[in-house]
Amino acid sequence: MEANFIDISFVSPCFNEEATLQKFYAEVTRVSSALSASGQASACELIFVDDGSVDATSSMLRDFAQRDDRVRYLVFSRNFGKESALLAGLQKARGRYVVTLDADLQDPPSLIPEMLAAVASGEFDCAGTRRVTRKGEPAIRSFFARRFYRLMAMLTDIEVVDGARDFRLMSRPYVNAVLSLGERIRFSKGIFPWVGFRTKWFEYENIRRVTGETKWSFGKLFLYSLDGIFAFSSKPLAIASILGVLFFLLSLAFVAVIIVRRITWGDPVAGWASTACIILFCSGVQLFTVGIVGQYLAKVYAEVKQRPHYIVREEK
Ligand code: UDP
Ligand code: MG
Repeated sequence: MEANFIDISFVSPCFNEEATLQKFYAEVTRVSSALSASGQASACELIFVDDGSVDATSSMLRDFAQRDDRVRYLVFSRNFGKESALLAGLQKARGRYVVTLDADLQDPPSLIPEMLAAVASGEFDCAGTRRVTRKGEPAIRSFFARRFYRLMAMLTDIEVVDGARDFRLMSRPYVNAVLSLGERIRFSKGIFPWVGFRTKWFEYENIRRVTGETKWSFGKLFLYSLDGIFAFSSKPLAIASILGVLFFLLSLAFVAVIIVRRITWGDPVAGWASTACIILFCSGVQLFTVGIVGQYLAKVYAEVKQRPHYIVREEK
């Protein structure tokens, strides 16, 4: 076996995770020892991506790396978001298998041996996880999450799995396929199903964060879901066009009504209120559809600028 041959890479994005990092590191170390003890994977590497944390995360990573030469890390120059952190980690990973998991222990590392067995058997290329309950999450958040998955199913051809986590174990060909997608605006929940291959799903109950708190506000999640829709579907544009046609037909009907009324009853001046309503309504619909077009334009603009996904301040 080659000296730097890595069986499995653990990739974790970390954003202000000082409270959990120590525990997480211990847990991953435990799992990787179990993997080598059982002969499933002997050489492993731990890749941490510090997504511009403002707490002690980066100094903890430096410390891990000093003590443990399986640890490699990246520190971003600022917060670029979890998608960028995941991408950076996947690009850095050298393993034959790569597993991505959150640093907050909401993704149980104890599932990894089972996931690895499924992919190593050659029967699957990816082991994905989904949570079957949303316990411990605000009801309103679950409600909107459900609506979002419905909407994605309606608007796109890819299957975005409800409750799928970013906790995945992938084979090298799968990782390379994911990395071959060069888009700036990355929506992994769509990218993973888009590349295809065979995925085996593992289910588990929602686990609360051990410490610290979620980095996702409702607003951030909402914008993220819009990214997903606009990145994987052009149906909103079709909806905008269909609305345009409908309104055109409606206006023809209106014209007909007005002409008939003029002929039968003459032309009494009335109806400014209804006119005002129609104007308000139509301009609302116009703004809405222009907004949709604008969304795509903004995405195209972001893509053509070709800015890097992230900037690294420190690396090992
Ligand atoms: N994270 C990140 N950048 C961000 C937000 C989050 O790298 O801008 C990391 C975070 O450290 C954690 C993972 O992504 O390891 C998931 O974040 P979080 O637990 O806040 O999300 P949730 O589990 O609530 O979906
Ligand atoms: Mg979490």
